[in-house]
Amino acid sequence: MKLTARINSIKPSPTLAITMKANALRAEGRDIIGFGAGEPDFDTPDNVKQAAIRAINEGFTKYTPVGGIDELKDAIIAKLQRDNHLSYTRAQICVSCGAKHTLYNLAQVLFEEGDEVVIPSPYWVSYPDIVMLTGAKAVILKTRASEGFKIQPSELETAITDRTRAVIINSPSNPSGVAYSPAEVEKLAAVIARKKVLAISDDIYEKILYDGLDFANVASVHPAMKELTVVVNGLSKSHAMTGWRIGYAAGPADIIAAATKLQSQNTSNPTSIAQKASVEALNGDQAIVGTMVREFEKRRNVIVERLNAIPGITCMTPQGAFYVFPEIAGLLGRKHDGKVLTTSSDVAAWLLDAANVAVIPGGEFGHDDHIRLSYATSMANIEKGLDRIRDAALKLE
Ligand SMILES: *Cc1c(COP(=O)(O)O)cnc(C)c1O
Repeated sequence: MKLTARINSIKPSPTLAITMKANALRAEGRDIIGFGAGEPDFDTPDNVKQAAIRAINEGFTKYTPVGGIDELKDAIIAKLQRDNHLSYTRAQICVSCGAKHTLYNLAQVLFEEGDEVVIPSPYWVSYPDIVMLTGAKAVILKTRASEGFKIQPSELETAITDRTRAVIINSPSNPSGVAYSPAEVEKLAAVIARKKVLAISDDIYEKILYDGLDFANVASVHPAMKELTVVVNGLSKSHAMTGWRIGYAAGPADIIAAATKLQSQNTSNPTSIAQKASVEALNGDQAIVGTMVREFEKRRNVIVERLNAIPGITCMTPQGAFYVFPEIAGLLGRKHDGKVLTTSSDVAAWLLDAANVAVIPGGEFGHDDHIRLSYATSMANIEKGLDRIRDAALKLE
């Protein structure tokens, strides 16, 4: 059957594909250690589960308002006030089926052919494809490992043209784990405010920050940016709720109304019981967040040290999220079974084959001399997996 040029222009999510492949190998009996997953390995907190069970038992199982129930919007408004000192009304909030869906809706209502969207790299795999599906151009602003994978304000200034409709900012970042300090965010915000373009601030890793670093987004540090920012966030990463599919946007009412209109014609509403669970996640006890972050920080310290001890691999210490994005340039050009490793995909395939370890090729995030490892897995898996990677690396010809 003939498919559209639009759908043929994008690729399936590579992180989901690799996770699926690792699962398939496991089902065949191979002992695979997965560093691919982009989700916390913790269980959803019990109080959140109980709220969903209550909702089911009370019959809260029908369609809800398109952009989310008022109770959840109010919990989101309270969260944005409490954590980010940003004030919103219900008309400025749209709840969707995960932050990915939120970003998709926003792209569909904001971008079209002729538009440009600035995306710093390394970028989350879905940004370019979500943008390209609208016909707009994804303008990749490449950052360097030597500058901590941070965009410089002057580079951002140059990347923004008359056609630029938005800049996507993701701090802490997937895949690099890099987080901007409030002072650095302020400098970027000043550029975006001067250029009067929209910022889409993907704050999904807001809570997963280390070394006592404070979180900030462009709207919270620069008053003029509030009108020019759509904050995107969700429960998946902060509350180990990936499968519940709840994300949200907070921003200018006209953009939110447009996204809600689109949603009325695609998913109607996010799942009723997941919304009730999310109210509890946002209003209830936040202990899980601290527990997860403390554990992630310990794992980060171990994985960074272990990676740096492997010849050919260099890993900087990320400030947030649960990924490391080591440079593997020293492995490229080496041989395994007579085959030369020339790309990050070759390196990922070799690690799966020779070390039974699943990682994501950095090329998927715009940097082919890197790989991404998620440390949302047990310390035992990290130790064992890193033993395997080291042993395989030492055997390269
Ligand atoms: C995980 C992730 C999301 C989306 O998460 P949802 O599960 O769709 O809420 C968005 N942005 C980044 C950078 C992510 O890593």
